[in-house]
Amino acid sequence: MKAYKEFVEYVRHIYNKPEGFISLHEPRFIGNEKKYVNEAIDSTFVSSVGKFVNDFELKIAQMTGAKYAVAIVNGTNALHLALMMAGVKSNEEVITQTLTFTATANAISYINAIPHFVDVDKETLGLSPTKLRIHLQEIAEIKNGQCYNKNTGNRIAACVPMHTFGLPINMIELKSVCDEFKIPIVEDAAESLGSYYNKKHTGTFGLLGVISFNGNKIVTSGGGGVIITNDEELAIKAKHLSTQAKKPHAWDFDHDAVAYNYRMPNLNAALLCAQLEQLNNFVDNKRELWQKYNTFFKENNFANLVPEIDDAISNYWLNTILLNSKNEQQNFLQYTNDNHIMTRPIWKLMSSLEHFKYCPIANIENAIWLEDRVVNIPSSVIV
Ligand SMILES: *Cc1c(COP(=O)(O)O)cnc(C)c1O
Repeated sequence: MKAYKEFVEYVRHIYNKPEGFISLHEPRFIGNEKKYVNEAIDSTFVSSVGKFVNDFELKIAQMTGAKYAVAIVNGTNALHLALMMAGVKSNEEVITQTLTFTATANAISYINAIPHFVDVDKETLGLSPTKLRIHLQEIAEIKNGQCYNKNTGNRIAACVPMHTFGLPINMIELKSVCDEFKIPIVEDAAESLGSYYNKKHTGTFGLLGVISFNGNKIVTSGGGGVIITNDEELAIKAKHLSTQAKKPHAWDFDHDAVAYNYRMPNLNAALLCAQLEQLNNFVDNKRELWQKYNTFFKENNFANLVPEIDDAISNYWLNTILLNSKNEQQNFLQYTNDNHIMTRPIWKLMSSLEHFKYCPIANIENAIWLEDRVVNIPSSVIV
């Protein structure tokens, strides 16, 4: 308890907030947000067409190094559309990690495809390349250049790794496993804008990648997402299907498919353009915050702060500690929240949710171990 008390005092000290509530993560609007949103209103272009949407798409492509970026109304819908672009069809299986936010698995289900749950690594909390290889060696077979699950007969149509809390996975190793088994990658980089592996931005290793701009992410458009890809044809198709498949014409209404209205409004893009101007500062600020926590946990070893792996740069969106047991995790959550310092456990495993119990599953011992130990600690940018 003495150590927990010191933690509470330390958090209050670094946020310079001797009393009151300290949240896990809150957005910072300290740049051109109001200016750009006002510009969008004054222009009357508040909906899915406008200058800020175009600017945002160009900017994201530039920042991530992807050739194309397609603005989408939120990250979940971006994942849904990206999986369609990757060619996933109903009753096919999509590999993902059991330890993820529910949107990852939901997006797979929206296509009536079947999530196939695999373990994470303890170091990254993200999909484990080693464990994926072992699992595929056991259950997969290649027929006509495509991967099938020998047990179910279903095609394994894609793999969706997720960079948990901004911590990059070793994507070179993961890609080599997926290449070996002919499985296209759709990266859920929802949490990892500003995170790199081997100097390459997360979300750019696979066929397509997705980033979220929800209010809780490192930068926000209120709600929003983006699909990034190097494939021109997929980018054009994604834009088309996110715009109700309307064929471009000055006045005619002609649509060539059943498709979604998944576009990001210009009003949201305006907010986001202002936020993106501050991304580098936010990442630097968060990396300094990680250093501060690191100093604390070197002296107080009731928990371990999770670092980025070699060759990775994390945006440290949410700082993460590992307690020694489920019991200690629960005690720490209780103590900190009672003292108005917001802390949170990691998500319940997807494979233990009632509606995903039918899904194929590999050995997930690391995920089970982590579920009992992970806690996120306050990580807002310090102003
Ligand atoms: C936030 C998030 C999403 C979904 O993004 P929304 O914009 O909230 O729809 C998807 N996957 C992960 C891992 C996320 O954290």
